Amino acid sequence: MRCWPRRKPVFRGTPAVFLDRDGTINRNRHGQYITLPAQLRLYARAPEALKLLAGKGYLLIVLTNQSGIGRGYMTPAVSRAINLKLVDDLRREGAFLDAVYFCPHTPDDGCGCRKPATGLLEEAAASGRIDLARSFVAGDKRSDLELARRAGLKGHLVLTGAGRQAAARTGKRAFRDLLALARAVPDVKRTK
Ligand SMILES: [Mg+2]
Ligand SMILES: [Zn+2]
Repeated sequence: MRCWPRRKPVFRGTPAVFLDRDGTINRNRHGQYITLPAQLRLYARAPEALKLLAGKGYLLIVLTNQSGIGRGYMTPAVSRAINLKLVDDLRREGAFLDAVYFCPHTPDDGCGCRKPATGLLEEAAASGRIDLARSFVAGDKRSDLELARRAGLKGHLVLTGAGRQAAARTGKRAFRDLLALARAVPDVKRTK
């Protein structure tokens, strides 16, 4: 489901970064869910990372699992407020998200949108056009990498959040954080 922007966006054929939220853009809470807007804290280098990615020509599209809704830890309205705080906090730093999609379900619901299922990515891709061939997924968990694999995209791991565990298990090259990743990916405005 989409929570931002209010109206269905129309993407115009540029590549996208499909960004995980907790542990990638903002701090995760160890063993706990973010269930209040006040608990959402950006990583210090995240706004700069997102500005750099946008400047390189990528759409910034957040895809986030929020099973805390389905588990009854927060209402959909509170989850929405948390996501809008993310949008606002970043905007205040000059970083503008293009869209935020979330899955409210628990693993037991068997939905098609909880990562690593591809439903959220497909929902985004159905809003106009996205250059998927040059898009990638960025996240701190194996489920983010698995999402990328299932969607046929590149997946990049960051070492923030749960990234160290994920990197240890997968043996995959990982970036210190989202800014290190943003510096490493190609500028897609110039290349075609
Ligand atoms: Mg995460
Ligand atoms: Zn779902």
